[in-house]
Amino acid sequence: MSSKLLNVVAIIAHPDDLSFFCSGTLAKWAEQGHNIYAICVTSGNVGTLRTDLTMKQVADMREKELRAANDILGVKETLILGYPDGGFINAPELREKLIYYVRKYKADRVVTFDPWVAYEVHPDHLVVGRMAAEAAAFAAFPLLYSEQMKQNVKPYACSEVWFMGLLGHPPNCFVDIFSTLEKKVEAALKFEATLTLLARLFAPDIDPTKVTSEDLKTLSKHADTLLRFMASTIGEKVKLNAAEAFFVQKTLPGHFDNFQQIMMEMLGNPSAPPEIC
Ligand SMILES: [Zn+2]
Repeated sequence: MSSKLLNVVAIIAHPDDLSFFCSGTLAKWAEQGHNIYAICVTSGNVGTLRTDLTMKQVADMREKELRAANDILGVKETLILGYPDGGFINAPELREKLIYYVRKYKADRVVTFDPWVAYEVHPDHLVVGRMAAEAAAFAAFPLLYSEQMKQNVKPYACSEVWFMGLLGHPPNCFVDIFSTLEKKVEAALKFEATLTLLARLFAPDIDPTKVTSEDLKTLSKHADTLLRFMASTIGEKVKLNAAEAFFVQKTLPGHFDNFQQIMMEMLGNPSAPPEIC
């Protein structure tokens, strides 16, 4: 990363979305002095298997968890747009809002889901990734949503989109997160609702609809192991002890700057080897 201080905006669908795929990287960038902002598009109000909570209670709980986690990671400002969780996002309206925030935060780098991946069943991840990528590429056009200029923002050319959690394209960028792995694990374990969702994976004996505090301790231990295993397995690929992987695209107004990559891949040539960035 260059020595210039950057404005990084992580745009996610649900409060826990940062934890597994990019929180070590965000914490590292925050330690380097870059400005990290997080925009969570939905309130996450259905994200639990517990049956003793209302949607409002789930949203309140997950907001607290997100803010506590982002404090650990060094996120400067966390914004929750409050769309309902589970496939109810109005995409054009979201794009307009995200263009406003790319302009407001002068986002040099947007981190989000890859909306072009295979086997992604969650509609919120797809819509948020797509609208975040569009916002990064379109915030530079002065005639687009020009009424926003009355709200004290200017067109801004975001330079890069970092896609996380990939299954579509092999990563082209690995970030060494050895120095922030502890923060990543500590932050991820704040998300009680996520731990209950993972119960079937970790501990099939635990009833995820009625999780006790003892169960939570067990689930936390399993999640801790999984997070460290993921970081070391991804790191191994590029001879690092712990890493997170991304597919980074540089942006031009209205496009990604990937003409060379398109040509290489179209002709069946291997893509350039991944970088440690
Ligand atoms: Zn999610």
